[in-house]
Amino acid sequence: METLTENQLSVYSFGNKKADGSRDMKNLLGGKGANLAEMSRIGIPVPPGFTITTEVCTQYNQDGKEAVIERIEPEVRDAITRIEETMGATFGDDENPLLISVRSGARVSMPGMMDTVLNLGLNDESIKGVIKMTGNDRFAWDSYRRFIQMYSSVVMGLKPESKDDLDPFEEIIDHLKDKRRIEHDTQFTVQDLQDLVYDFKDIVKKRTGKPFPSNPWDQLWGAILAVFDSWNGDRAIYYRKMHGYPEDWGTAVNVQAMVFGNMGEDSGTGVCFTRDAGTGENKFNGEYLINAQGEDVVAGVRTPQQITLLGSQRWAELAQVSEEERAENYPSLEELMPNIYKELFEYQNKLETHYQDMQDMEFTIQQGKLWILQTRNGKRTGAAMVKIAMDLLKEGLIDEKTALMRIEPNKLNELLHPIFDPDALAEAEVIAQGLPASPGAATGQIVFFADEANKYKNSILVRVETSPEDVEGMNVAKGIVTARGGMTSHAAVVARGIGKCCVSGAGALKINYKTRTLKVGDHEYHEGDWISINGSTGNILEGKVGTKEPELSGEFAELMKLSDGYAQMEVRTNADTPKDAEIARSFGAKGIGLTRTEHMFFEVDRIKAMREMILADTVKGRKQALKELLPMQRGDFEGIFRAMKGYPVTVRLLDPPLHEFVPHQLATQKELADDLHISLASVKSKVAELEEFNPMLGHRGCRLGNTYPEITEMQAQAILEAALNLKKEGIITKPEIMVPLVGTVEEFRQQKEIIDNTAQEVFKKRKDTVEYSVGTMIEVPRAALVADEIAEIADFFSFGTNDLTQMTFGYSRDDSGKFLPIYLEKGILKADPFEVLDQKGVGQLIELGTKRGRSTRPDLKVGICGEHGGEPSSVGFCQTVDMNYVSCSPYRVPIARVAAAQAAIAQK
Ligand code: ADP
Ligand code: MG
Ligand code: MG
Repeated sequence: METLTENQLSVYSFGNKKADGSRDMKNLLGGKGANLAEMSRIGIPVPPGFTITTEVCTQYNQDGKEAVIERIEPEVRDAITRIEETMGATFGDDENPLLISVRSGARVSMPGMMDTVLNLGLNDESIKGVIKMTGNDRFAWDSYRRFIQMYSSVVMGLKPESKDDLDPFEEIIDHLKDKRRIEHDTQFTVQDLQDLVYDFKDIVKKRTGKPFPSNPWDQLWGAILAVFDSWNGDRAIYYRKMHGYPEDWGTAVNVQAMVFGNMGEDSGTGVCFTRDAGTGENKFNGEYLINAQGEDVVAGVRTPQQITLLGSQRWAELAQVSEEERAENYPSLEELMPNIYKELFEYQNKLETHYQDMQDMEFTIQQGKLWILQTRNGKRTGAAMVKIAMDLLKEGLIDEKTALMRIEPNKLNELLHPIFDPDALAEAEVIAQGLPASPGAATGQIVFFADEANKYKNSILVRVETSPEDVEGMNVAKGIVTARGGMTSHAAVVARGIGKCCVSGAGALKINYKTRTLKVGDHEYHEGDWISINGSTGNILEGKVGTKEPELSGEFAELMKLSDGYAQMEVRTNADTPKDAEIARSFGAKGIGLTRTEHMFFEVDRIKAMREMILADTVKGRKQALKELLPMQRGDFEGIFRAMKGYPVTVRLLDPPLHEFVPHQLATQKELADDLHISLASVKSKVAELEEFNPMLGHRGCRLGNTYPEITEMQAQAILEAALNLKKEGIITKPEIMVPLVGTVEEFRQQKEIIDNTAQEVFKKRKDTVEYSVGTMIEVPRAALVADEIAEIADFFSFGTNDLTQMTFGYSRDDSGKFLPIYLEKGILKADPFEVLDQKGVGQLIELGTKRGRSTRPDLKVGICGEHGGEPSSVGFCQTVDMNYVSCSPYRVPIARVAAAQAAIAQK
């Protein structure tokens, strides 16, 4: 790991249209720090400050507090001096104090992960200076009580004691509100705020045993170290795991001069987006509050107002607020401060053009002056991701390759989820209306606490508001509802980020955590009750509402077309039924890479014949049973071939161990014995005979076909007859018959012989022929090693990476649940190799197998049909070894298409 060297800066200053850092330094300065530097450079007004690098955080984790403070203290002092000079104020001064904020910022934004401390530098002396300077003692005391509240919670760890407890400070505030019979914070008198400060300090002393620190430098170091510590807090660790971010990135610390949105009616604070983060529409939008500070907008304590007039009117309609009331109590920034709005509009334009992507910005207005506090590429839903990339392309801001590379393939998943069926929706009863915070459809049972989201298979998390502690549960839930908060509330932002359906600010909901009930008007809902939510309209609906399959249309369809223009590999699907095949085709699959034939045998009417075949003691008996299965198999293949309309279909011969087909319970064994007119004892002994110590390495794959050639004969016959039947319908299918689990060339040769002989017979009998090919799965490591030999007689290879992974690692897929999670937790493995292809190990076998295969058959067709065929990084690997196609489950086809395009672009 890199450590700090003497001449490397630990601290990077910005402000006054200058900066040490720039946007390219995200790894070192974190996203927030790099962008603050960049904005300063391009002339956007940001309050001056500095960034302590992520490397310092890493060093802190290794060498501890003392070493780090010693190392960076001189630089921090210098940087503070620079802020002092720009601001004309002095840190720790009683007369003219400089107040600062301390903010965390990793290289990728983790919303609300690590809390910010505002107004740092206040104490009983410096507040007098603030009052003198501003002549606004209400503002000064409000800032002071906020500071104590934030610092105590973030740095000193003063949090609610249990989950249905209130925040201790909020409790004091609520108490005082009750006593004073007021509703809003803004109604507190100066004396009230002063009382709060003393009460807050009291509770800090009581709860932590330590007095609240009054020395600003102590405050500053406490806050800096708390930011570093938060990198290893539970929330951060969970978020990193969820997104696969490595631990050694570390977080930067941003220290910045305060600007104040809480200095009166000419001040305020807000957040805005250059485009709609939910739908992707090119509409500037956002929310703000007058006379407020920092997270007030996000916290959802007061109802935020919309920035644009259009947005404001749309909001009023959804919130059922009349136009008079809206204009009077909730005017847009555009109406209230037209000049500030104009300036903000210019900055958002400038920033979007500069970053060539949708920006999510934070701003504060201090006494009529606008400051920008943050910009970043905005989090967005899958739908918005697609629309924004395609729109930016059409607007000429980015080129095709950039547009394609902007797509996170896995996020397309959101667009492939079922949507509400319009008919069902029309019939559904609307319980309440909230804001369409994150689009989508969700149906589930109500839970009120994030840590109980897994109580039901489908749950809807219903909260007054959410906070960073809830992220884990939000991820588990199918959808999120909040009673408070706007379009930029914590719930809304997180939900859009993880692509979860969310309705926020449904004010009609009265939630009671203690009784676990939800009241709307006279109706009461309880935990476990079913509701549905429509994140695209903000509707909360009664009960379960029906859904339907999504479609590839609009920008999504355009994106797919664009992908196909760049992709070199084709995308096929793994499908065992005509229905799956059809879905995959509608998603653009160009063939089937794997049809598993065994699934067809499990259906009720077939399993009997299958069991009869397995239990038969003689070839004749087996053939008899197979004869019954033949027409059913042929019918299945016809259905699939028909659905694929002439695209290639790879059919794999019977693969699983036979014991999977026989009954293991006494009652069903008895039934079977009666059915077949044999004794229970002989059923039992046959079942016992099939028992294997190691079924995954046992009598399965082509070992079945080689020991019972009649099975292969029947399957080959069914496949080819189906193809012939379709030929009559005018559909030309070229079946690819695939032999599983081959390890030696002889295993394959003998199977191929059976298939070829069967083909000759079928063709002779039918007086017609179809083209077909015979290939093999490469899933036993030995097959990869002798691939040159196998390719001499095999037409194609398909890497069965599930088994190949299992056998290369020696991990039983069925038992890996016992140790893989622990391996991942301990960092022994970075990812589950059954999900993400192990390029380093298993990848070598794939590369070698492909090369050796093509050394004897240059035109060998090579594909992948394991789970990995739909996983973007694995698809990328397949491109590097020059595969012809990847095959994945139907719903992952669009993901694989984009991943294939990206892989081709990346390879150039
Ligand atoms: P997060 O990463 O959770 O967004 P931030 O560090 O951006 O946290 O800050 C939280 C809130 O405090 C934001 O609304 C931000 O604009 C505000 N804030 C941060 N620093 C300052 C500052 N120096 N002056 C005024 N507001 C600030
Ligand atoms: Mg922020
Ligand atoms: Mg296999």
